[in-house]
Amino acid sequence: MQIEIDRNSGFCGGVIRAIGQAEASLKSGGRLISIGEIVHNEAELNRLKAEGLETMQLADLGGMPGPEGNEGVSLLIRAHGEPPSTYELARSKGYRIIDCTCPVVLNIQKSIREAYARTHAAEPFGQIVIFGKIGHAEVLGLVGQVEGDAVVVENLDQLKAALEEGKILPHRPVEIFSQTTKSPVEYGELCRWLSARMVYPRLLTVHDTICRQVASRHRELEVFARTHDVVLFVAGQSSSNGKVLFDLCKACNIRTYRIGGEQDIQGEWFRRDDNVGVCGATSTPRWLLDRVAESVKNLQ
Ligand code: SF4
Repeated sequence: MQIEIDRNSGFCGGVIRAIGQAEASLKSGGRLISIGEIVHNEAELNRLKAEGLETMQLADLGGMPGPEGNEGVSLLIRAHGEPPSTYELARSKGYRIIDCTCPVVLNIQKSIREAYARTHAAEPFGQIVIFGKIGHAEVLGLVGQVEGDAVVVENLDQLKAALEEGKILPHRPVEIFSQTTKSPVEYGELCRWLSARMVYPRLLTVHDTICRQVASRHRELEVFARTHDVVLFVAGQSSSNGKVLFDLCKACNIRTYRIGGEQDIQGEWFRRDDNVGVCGATSTPRWLLDRVAESVKNLQ
């Protein structure tokens, strides 16, 4: 068999930056607690845990004691970002904040605040719509910029329902944004559908907020999946980007398998002379792709 690792797979810039900041902070000493998983990959989380990184869920932050006793304890805000209320709560508990919000996400947060000010400058007010996964940390961070006053839809069916239920009013200004890791094709379909239903299409403003790194991976992965006999897609179970990119690979190549690591590989997936491709999500570490490729080699 021939085995190739996709050279475009592996951490995106935002995750590399967050992990770099976490490792630098851990080296300088003191406790470091990430609010939520710093990266949606169990293997990389275990590696960072061994270096001392702790993880706390946002829901638990309010119940933490403080501010006494939290001197020298740092809270890490991951690349997904957080709503302003999280920063206020963390400060009230006496934590030092290490803000690793990806610059791309910070820009979208700013754009949403500006869009909200525009659409709410005069009555009748317009609306902010976000195409993203309900409850996802990045989406919560975006919705938090406008104090929750945004309509979140996960797919075209939910957009249709929002219009039917009057949550989106087609005769008023609408500004739509996407979570950075959504499918560019799906976002395009959604926006075209909405534009066709607006009483005045010019009242719809579409913000191109899918991360460039993610958008280019969609195009590159399509080619990668089509040009290999078997595709091993490596991603953590909770990776939202992992689900989107796996579905894309599977649609291009029926012999695509999603695995968490080398322990999930099954020998019966392969035939002699297969050309095997190993790829992953923006949250999949490069070292894990190397390990998977090595394990496939050892099957021969
Ligand atoms: S996917 Fe893009 S926007 Fe999201 S963290 Fe990575 S680089 Fe930033």
